[in-house]
Amino acid sequence: MPVYTDTYLSILQQLRQKDVTLVAVSKTRTAEDIKVLYDLGQRDFGENYVQELLSKQLVLPEDIQWHFIGHLQSNKVRQIAGFVYLIHGVDSVKLLQEINKQGQKINRRIGCLLQVHIAQEETKFGFDAAELSELADQLSSFPFAAVKGLMGMATNTDNETQVRHEFSRLRQLADLLPFEHEPIISMGMSNDYKLAVEEGSTMVRIGSLLFGSRH
Ligand SMILES: *Cc1c(COP(=O)(O)O)cnc(C)c1O
Repeated sequence: MPVYTDTYLSILQQLRQKDVTLVAVSKTRTAEDIKVLYDLGQRDFGENYVQELLSKQLVLPEDIQWHFIGHLQSNKVRQIAGFVYLIHGVDSVKLLQEINKQGQKINRRIGCLLQVHIAQEETKFGFDAAELSELADQLSSFPFAAVKGLMGMATNTDNETQVRHEFSRLRQLADLLPFEHEPIISMGMSNDYKLAVEEGSTMVRIGSLLFGSRH
C-alpha cells in the first residue's frame, strides 16, 4: 500500500505553524506502512480497533503514542489501559468509569477526550451540550481518567458553512468547561482538517490523505 510521504511533510508543515498535532490514522494499514512515517519522525498514530492496535503495538517501537479513536467498548478498556496515550471517543459515563477503574488498578492516569455529538447524522456517538456540562462537574470523581479535552466529528457534507459551524460549536463548548490546562480539541479528518484548524482544532486525525483510501 502507498504511503504519501510528500503529502505527510506538507501537511505537517501547515500544522506546525499553528501548533496543531497530527495523529496519523493507521487503521487497516500495515506495521510497515506505519514504520515509513515513524522513520520520518511521526510518533502519534490513531487506531480504531483494539485487536488491531494490540498486534501493532507489539511489533512497533515503544515510543509511539497510540491514540484510540474508535468506539471503545467498556469491556475492552483493560487491554489497552497500560499503554494507550489518549482515548478520543469517551462517549458515556459508563466508559469513563471503566477507564477510571482500570487506571486505578495499575496506578496510571489515562488520558482521554470526551466525544461530543456535533454532527447532524444520527449515527455518530457522543454527548450533547447539556450532558457535557452536567458531566463537567463530576470529572473529579474520576481521578484516573485524565480528561484533557473534547473530540468531535462534523457531518460528512460538502456544505462548508455547516461543517465550520459544527467545529466552532465544539471549540466553544471546550472553552466553557473547567479544564486545568489549555484543552485538546480533536477535530478534523482528511476531508475537513483545514476547516477544523481554522475553527480552532488543536489535534487532527488524518488517515486516507496519508495512506490512500481504505477499501
Ligand atoms: C478513520 C477515522 C479518521 C480518519 O479518517 P480519514 O478520512 O481517513 O482521514 C479520523 N477519525 C476517526 C474517528 C476515524 O474513525
